[in-house]
Amino acid sequence: MSTIIYETDNAIFSFTSNDVTQSITQSSKKTEHLNKLLHHLTTSPSDLITIPKQYTDFAYIALDLIEKGKGSVTCRICNKTYRPDQRKLTVAGHGTSPFNLKEKGGIKKLMVKGQRLPGMFGGRGFTCPKGHELISMITWRT
Ligand SMILES: [Zn+2]
Repeated sequence: MSTIIYETDNAIFSFTSNDVTQSITQSSKKTEHLNKLLHHLTTSPSDLITIPKQYTDFAYIALDLIEKGKGSVTCRICNKTYRPDQRKLTVAGHGTSPFNLKEKGGIKKLMVKGQRLPGMFGGRGFTCPKGHELISMITWRT
């Protein structure tokens, strides 16, 4: 089993190859990058694999794994490594899902007469215990 390292400007994520392989396999966002990565993971004998920064699709996989309590993450500001249960979920923009919108009647009102209200977006992310942003993804927008 290998260790997968994913570095961003804010944090360094560490996962096991088993968890990453499972998450990509189950992901609905199987992009070319992720398929390449999956192939690499299942064929590479390396103990340590670093995800190239340009594989931004991997952030969705990282977020998925963190939500499942997998792996560990190092905050670059604290210079400390945190366990999954020490991280805090944050909500970006207008919420985790357009279906959760409490204001304005939710998604139905967003689609009034087939017109989408522009500029609505939402997502989720995590901060370290001291409140530094570790990862934040926009998972939907109008
Ligand atoms: Zn921090």
